[in-house]
Amino acid sequence: MSRTPFELFDIDGLLSEEERAIRETVRAFVAAKVRPHLAQWYEEAAIPARELARELGGLGVLGMHLEGYGCAGTSATAYGLACLELEAGDSGLRSLVSVQGSLAMFAIHRWGSAEHKDTWLPRMATGEAIGCFGLTEPDFGSNPAGMRTRAVRDGDGWVLSGTKMWITNGSVADVAVVWAQTSEGVRGFVVPTDSEGFSAPEIKRKMSLRASVTSELVLDGVRLPGDAVFPDVRGLRGPLSCLDEARFGIVFGALGAARDCLETAIAYAGEREIFDRPLASYQLTQAKLADMTLELGKGMLLALHLGRLKDAGRLAADQVSLGKLNNVREAIAIARECRTILGAAGITLEHPVMRHANNLESVLTYEGTSEVHQLVIGRALTGESAFR
Ligand code: FAD
Repeated sequence: MSRTPFELFDIDGLLSEEERAIRETVRAFVAAKVRPHLAQWYEEAAIPARELARELGGLGVLGMHLEGYGCAGTSATAYGLACLELEAGDSGLRSLVSVQGSLAMFAIHRWGSAEHKDTWLPRMATGEAIGCFGLTEPDFGSNPAGMRTRAVRDGDGWVLSGTKMWITNGSVADVAVVWAQTSEGVRGFVVPTDSEGFSAPEIKRKMSLRASVTSELVLDGVRLPGDAVFPDVRGLRGPLSCLDEARFGIVFGALGAARDCLETAIAYAGEREIFDRPLASYQLTQAKLADMTLELGKGMLLALHLGRLKDAGRLAADQVSLGKLNNVREAIAIARECRTILGAAGITLEHPVMRHANNLESVLTYEGTSEVHQLVIGRALTGESAFR
């Protein structure tokens, strides 16, 4: 009798009944509604984002860890498990949910005025409205403090000018949370995307995260009312608080992509006959599977530990960096190793492995690159900041 990697680690024994139920619901949704279409969406670089958002809203995963406004108010760990199951489908699907819930909705929930929350959160929780989060610029990714997008006061209102780059959900969003320099430091603005002067051309020819919308945001003198700004937060503390949320989801999510690759490779190795025997029966193959299972299981134990810390209100940003750095790095290594087990078949969209591997290249880069997380951990260990 064989056991799956997570069974071998008895991961289920570490989850509550409710957490297992949420995981099963999301897994069933991905299997029924998403998985059959993924290869086509990826190949065509086109996803039915609006339809998907409504279905994900119906499933209850949009802003699921937030309280009120139609959000489910689950634990952070349950949210992480949902991210894992979504990313076992495709990192693009998890990105849609992460950006909606952890970046755009979280920003409004944490920093928005009562009116921002009432206007946007209920519609975002159902998926009727899609959000995006504009922090990165063409010349400022790892160092957002240098951003050039500027908001200046104009009478009672504001005028926003600048360009944001690599923005997930940008072209399909109804609302953009945009971070800009002001005379009082960086501030966040809630920008309806039908505002005059706002446009969001889609970025084409991506080789990674093809089943996800990525866009530029162009703010050409966008006029906003005075109350469009987040009232109580100034400086990078605002956007960084949101990034911590999204990074937490990735700690779990990346393992979903890795698990899908590993399960695919195990199944393939069991069926593929080479030199008259199943590939799975060779010691070299078993060594690969054993090593990958160890990394997957260790990553899951780390994710669950961080989840429990977050649920206890004790998770620090540098601890999220431990999880993001390790789990994405190991996930991409697992995806590449699984590809070798599938041989030539591994390079096609008939199997999910290379799709996951390519997606994980983006996951490695966004929400803080591996190098940025190494620097965060290095600073925590030495007290020395090596960022510049
Ligand atoms: P750079 O900052 O130019 O980095 C280039 C290289 O330099 C990297 O390897 C980096 O690790 C390294 N580096 C940086 N600093 C140091 C240092 N001090 N020492 C040594 N090496 C260093 N952004 C958003 O705001 N919203 C989104 O929704 C969003 N979605 C995205 C979706 C996709 C598919 C992708 C690919 C990106 C997305 N991003 C988004 C942008 C993402 O956050 C940035 O790409 C990321 O922060 C890195 O910035 P950069 O690409 O400009 O790389």
